[in-house]
Amino acid sequence: MFEVHSLRIGELYLPQGGKIHRDPVHVWLVTDGRQHFLVDSGMTDIARIEEMLKVSGWGGGHAALRARLAEHGLTPDDISHLILTHMHFDHADNTDLFPNSCVVVQREELFHAIDPTPSQRPFFKGHIMAELLSRKRPKGLRLVDGDFDLVEGIQVLHVPSHTPGMQVPIVTTAKGKVALVSDLGDHYKYWYPADPRATDKPTRYLSDTFLPGPIRSESERDWAAAMQRVMDHTDIVVPAHDFRIPTHMPEDWWAIPDSTEGDIAFVPPQQSDAIAF
Ligand SMILES: [Zn+2]
Repeated sequence: MFEVHSLRIGELYLPQGGKIHRDPVHVWLVTDGRQHFLVDSGMTDIARIEEMLKVSGWGGGHAALRARLAEHGLTPDDISHLILTHMHFDHADNTDLFPNSCVVVQREELFHAIDPTPSQRPFFKGHIMAELLSRKRPKGLRLVDGDFDLVEGIQVLHVPSHTPGMQVPIVTTAKGKVALVSDLGDHYKYWYPADPRATDKPTRYLSDTFLPGPIRSESERDWAAAMQRVMDHTDIVVPAHDFRIPTHMPEDWWAIPDSTEGDIAFVPPQQSDAIAF
């Protein structure tokens, strides 16, 4: 049986409607004590992010990843596979820290990264693609087409939505299945748009469906169908950029958080936030 640890490796501070929105950046350690997998590899260090995108924040890069893994007694060499949910800059950088791991990505995602839908061009970075292409195949890079089982207990669904090659790992734990949904719905409000625990603005007419996020390469219908397909295969979902996600599953376990506190946060953060979690 696997356990899943949410590792917060930094935050992005995104200007939005006159305020600065805090966006936590996570990767996930999936381990049974013998085999260790990482879901996403996060963003580069914040100084480089500021240069590339003119966005500030904290953390990121090799140092943050090493530090978070060390808290679990691990080094990058202990990670056998790196499953990239998609190739946006805040999910797929730092792969050079894992020269001995196998990166697993949908073939379609790699092609999409070369020529994204126009509105997504800023989110794909050439150096991320170049690092993947420099890896030995199939030992260092495995391109997959559609759904597959990585090992027993880690099922991966191909769910075109946010990007065409989006994939969601579903991990079997002692308590049930955990879907690491990444940006297929990066806050609980997208999964439970009518529930007042998930969002300050519950929308009753969406009670039987989902709310696709704002950055879309696929249609709203396809996206909602992808979310439904994930829900049909899992017990809980863990969104990528919500402050309310469980840190350790199955020890922490919830489908919907208790309240909306932590759904959206704004700069300035509390003094302790950068080191908490
Ligand atoms: Zn993201």
